[in-house]
Amino acid sequence: MREHLLRSLPQVSRLLDHFRGKYREEYIKEGARRVLERYRKEIKAGLRHTTENLLEDVEKEIRKLSETRLKRVINATGVVINTNLGRAPLHEDVVRFVSMIASHYSNLEFDLTTGCRGSRVELVEEYLVCLTGAESAHVVNNNASAVFLILNTHAKNKEVIVSRGELVEIGGSFRIPDIMKAAGAILVEVGTTNRTRLKDYIEAITPNTAFIMKVHRSNFYMEGFVEEVKIEDLLQLSLPVYYDAGSGAVVDLRDMGLDIYEPSFRDLIKKGVHVVSGSGDKLLGGPQVGIIVGQRHLIEPLRRNPISRVVRVDKLTLSALEMTLRLYMEKRHHEIPVIRMLTVEEKELYRRAKLLARRLKRIKDLDVRIIKDFSQCGGGALPHLYLPTYCVAIKHRTMSVSQLERKLMDASTPVIVRVKRDTLLLDTRTLLPEDLEELPKIVEEAII
Ligand SMILES: *Cc1c(COP(=O)(O)O)cnc(C)c1O
Repeated sequence: MREHLLRSLPQVSRLLDHFRGKYREEYIKEGARRVLERYRKEIKAGLRHTTENLLEDVEKEIRKLSETRLKRVINATGVVINTNLGRAPLHEDVVRFVSMIASHYSNLEFDLTTGCRGSRVELVEEYLVCLTGAESAHVVNNNASAVFLILNTHAKNKEVIVSRGELVEIGGSFRIPDIMKAAGAILVEVGTTNRTRLKDYIEAITPNTAFIMKVHRSNFYMEGFVEEVKIEDLLQLSLPVYYDAGSGAVVDLRDMGLDIYEPSFRDLIKKGVHVVSGSGDKLLGGPQVGIIVGQRHLIEPLRRNPISRVVRVDKLTLSALEMTLRLYMEKRHHEIPVIRMLTVEEKELYRRAKLLARRLKRIKDLDVRIIKDFSQCGGGALPHLYLPTYCVAIKHRTMSVSQLERKLMDASTPVIVRVKRDTLLLDTRTLLPEDLEELPKIVEEAII
């Protein structure tokens, strides 16, 4: 029986003939090889007793191989800086600039005034100094590497005092104590989870203290019996203060109409914080980078640390950062997608919901209604911000919520939704104009 089944398996060449023209040969061959191997193993182990689904399984595998692994998805979750979905979508001018730099040669490390070797990050550092009011700036691969570089440069074998209320974990395995250890710094924890006083810091200071570090609670907040020391007070302690701001805000969001305060680089520098770091792809709305600004005597040594070379940014990132920063320089930051999504007016969201609902209603077996709900900033920023929004709730007459959710995830352009109290919601806040345009067709195709 097993022998018979094994012999009935086709050759790769037969499957190649079967699928030729529909898919690229390379993917057919690889897909066929993988599935045949799996079938053979399963037959030998007595786990498979028929080969009748072979063609379907091979095609599924070929299709998987033919598609790119990284796909555009539609973020209908309402979480603006969605770490799982790539954090910040870039502004179109930024994308155009990246594309131009990427497809040509550039003066990445060539000084056009002298004809000599230049520095790749100097230019964006000038913008950062300008935008934040800091003496000096440095840019690395992401904020995790910024934290590492700062600690490794200034606090190797030295003590860094951090409040127990700030020993945070930021999504995807970034934990302050672990980074601290890896960078060679000695963590000195003070206070308790919910309360830390100035006295706690003062008592922990030794001749070997390098820094007082403050970590922004990016992705959670504490309420109730809570006390933390104000940055102004920490600055009185005649030790350098390093603030890991995480969210990377360049502008005060209150000026953009948001009822929330998030410390911006400029704010922190103005207060006198010695070094500040943050991400480029959170509130800044740019590419993944770690931005470091602060006093010159603390920034310059970072450049000389060989770790700077290990965590340097490439030209794609750099070009995206330059153009994003230019949008701030030109006071066009309200155009940046992340900022636009956070500050979009309710009436615009209602307009989108109405438009979307009208189109979705035409789809067979779909119940559609508009509901008011709240969106979130996400991505390790503004955890207590709930933004009123309009969503389109959809319900299929025969499919369960999880089945429908699955179907939408499997769509040609996957749609990631929010499920709340057994209702499937499409939050209009995080839909880009082309998403809004294409969504009805994508949903329709996905559920038939
Ligand atoms: C997000 C965040 C980080 C990590 O930044 P990445 O850019 O993701 O590496 C570090 N610290 C804080 C406070 C953060 O919010």
